[in-house]
Amino acid sequence: MKKDDCIFCKIANGEIPSRTLYEDEAFRVILDLGPATRGHALLIPKDHAEDLFGLPDDAAALVLPVVKRVAVRMKDRLGCDGLNLVQNNGEAAGQTVKHFHVHIIPRYLGDGQEINWTPTSPSAEELDGVMGQILE
Ligand code: 5GP
Ligand code: ZN
Repeated sequence: MKKDDCIFCKIANGEIPSRTLYEDEAFRVILDLGPATRGHALLIPKDHAEDLFGLPDDAAALVLPVVKRVAVRMKDRLGCDGLNLVQNNGEAAGQTVKHFHVHIIPRYLGDGQEINWTPTSPSAEELDGVMGQILE
């Protein structure tokens, strides 16, 4: 299902042109217009889902094989030294477009980009606590 006012629905379904690297029945992979690095791409499902929480399991199961296919090609053709997958869900996580997407970001030694967090030092009790909370 498409959402009328969603730009990624329009891009994924070809109503808005994009630089497409891959397309099948379920997905389109396009170049990001504000790339972190050379070749930064976005995998976008053709059916609207706001985020990972709303993505149906059958679509989710198809995501990684497509991502891998594009990643392998990037390594081969662009000669990248590494690659990050980034997938933001919700404002707190930095999601700006409310249609599920996966960033495929080729990395080059010395590219100057950072996809990072600051590690913290929780106590054993805190780690046990959060594990218990997730598992309960
Ligand atoms: P988010 O912050 O939601 O994880 O990432 C949204 C991404 O979509 C950003 O990297 C941004 O550059 C990209 N983006 C936003 N609008 C467009 C667009 O119209 N076309 C393309 N190709 N990329 C877009
Ligand atoms: Zn959408």
